[in-house]
Amino acid sequence: MSTTIIRNAKVYIERGRFEEALLIEDGFVRKVGTNAEVEAAAPADAKVYDAKGRTVVPGFIDSHQHLLNTGVALSDIRLHAATAIAEVKQIARDYIAERKPAAGTVLHGMGWNQDYFTDEHRLLTVRDLDEISTEHPLVFERACGHMLVANTLAMKLAGITPETVPPEGGMIGHFEDGSLNGIFAENARAPLLALFRNKSLEDTMRLIRVAMKHAAETGVTSVQTCDIRGGSWRTTMEAYERVAADHPLTRVYHQSSFMNPAEYKEFLDEGHVMGKGTPFNRFGPLKLFVDGSLGARTAYMRQPYHDDPTTRGIPTLTVEELDTLVGMADSHGCGVAIHAIGDAAVEGVLNAYDKVCHDGLNPLRHGIIHVQITDIPLVERFTKNHILALVQPIFLHYDTQIVEARVGKELAATSYAFGTMKKLGIHMSFGTDSPIEDMNPIDNLYCAVTRTNLKGLPEGGFHPEECLDIYDAVDAYTREGAYASFEEDVKGRLLPGYYADLVVLSEDIFTMPAQELRRTKVDATMVAGEFVFEREGA
Ligand SMILES: [Zn+2]
Repeated sequence: MSTTIIRNAKVYIERGRFEEALLIEDGFVRKVGTNAEVEAAAPADAKVYDAKGRTVVPGFIDSHQHLLNTGVALSDIRLHAATAIAEVKQIARDYIAERKPAAGTVLHGMGWNQDYFTDEHRLLTVRDLDEISTEHPLVFERACGHMLVANTLAMKLAGITPETVPPEGGMIGHFEDGSLNGIFAENARAPLLALFRNKSLEDTMRLIRVAMKHAAETGVTSVQTCDIRGGSWRTTMEAYERVAADHPLTRVYHQSSFMNPAEYKEFLDEGHVMGKGTPFNRFGPLKLFVDGSLGARTAYMRQPYHDDPTTRGIPTLTVEELDTLVGMADSHGCGVAIHAIGDAAVEGVLNAYDKVCHDGLNPLRHGIIHVQITDIPLVERFTKNHILALVQPIFLHYDTQIVEARVGKELAATSYAFGTMKKLGIHMSFGTDSPIEDMNPIDNLYCAVTRTNLKGLPEGGFHPEECLDIYDAVDAYTREGAYASFEEDVKGRLLPGYYADLVVLSEDIFTMPAQELRRTKVDATMVAGEFVFEREGA
């Protein structure tokens, strides 16, 4: 195996402590110290990487995201930027012209939003999509992910006719003459989604690799990903195994999602318990959802929404269902990581954890993902059983614009309380929920330390008392991510015995003004002692 010296660097060790050089052997850090110390310990044939004074940090660990869906989002038709119906058509036609997919290939688009259209203020319809292609089934999801539009061929393939009755909680749209207009909402989307969601093993592997390449480019060396879920989990699992066996670029830890106890039991019975696997592909906790999102007012709140007093959001599991699933995981030695955004959802999950944690101990490291709407007593409750918080500071980019409207000024002031979590010593790690937000760690760090959106607003930050400093933010993105996967003794720091997973940055993020952080580029990314990305011209 190979030996590499990284010299002339500013290697981050811990708050206030930096070293000059690293010795890397067989994928592990063997020594840190001055250039002279490290060179003296290295064999004569060691490769040398001159960092030219640049800052080196441990590889970033994204503690909650969807790697496979990120691959999908990067590969499919991207409509997020479309500001006109004509532009949607052009983007899709260009995609087809460029990639020449065979006739009959289902093409999936994501991200259109009629609120941004300037030519016509209306939803897309089957007529628009039929103008793009009648040879390819087209399914274009709206930005919110709760509505889609399909062309005639896609509806035919999905077996939809004008007479099809939508399932409960679903909507199938019609024109005035009774013909299908191509719009499907909520539970009626399933047959259309199935056209492209059930991917072949080869496609799944390809999409994982696309996302891993993006991770390497952004300095993310480990992901805790929620891709194993529902019906297709066996294919997904096998794809990850095969990718891990063939030069993977990213270490993967699975947050496996099962909302149905019978299906989860089948998964457990096959031995897929937390901790099983390899350093590149390991099973992690059970992932559950107990509510929806703040934007859609489906996050479950203790009080009615400030801007819609008719609703408190939607709990997606009953107390009994939640207790059953948490109990199943806990009794099999599996942790649980639960999506909870509203304060009632967070409270409900803490109640569930009270029933399985004893004497203030949390040996399985149960955690809560998102933890957005809170008052301070709710945040303090995390300390009772040492519950983990897996948070996404990048959500401040959008949510600072809506949170006061949704929950009122008072509750908003104590929400996204990352500074308070840090002060209380809560194990708080960072993720992006990619592809909901891009997995770029620099933007995420920027939001954590400035509490502004990516345009720098509001000036001075949204409740700046909850800002983290750059050291705590980097630690949340490295050491705490490792803690969430029980790897804090081998991952997330650059010390002897730790994985040589690291990132070379173009700027010294520890001394530059926080407002300028976004200038920083990832110049190189190393995983297990090998460079998996080097920026051209860096
Ligand atoms: Zn997620």
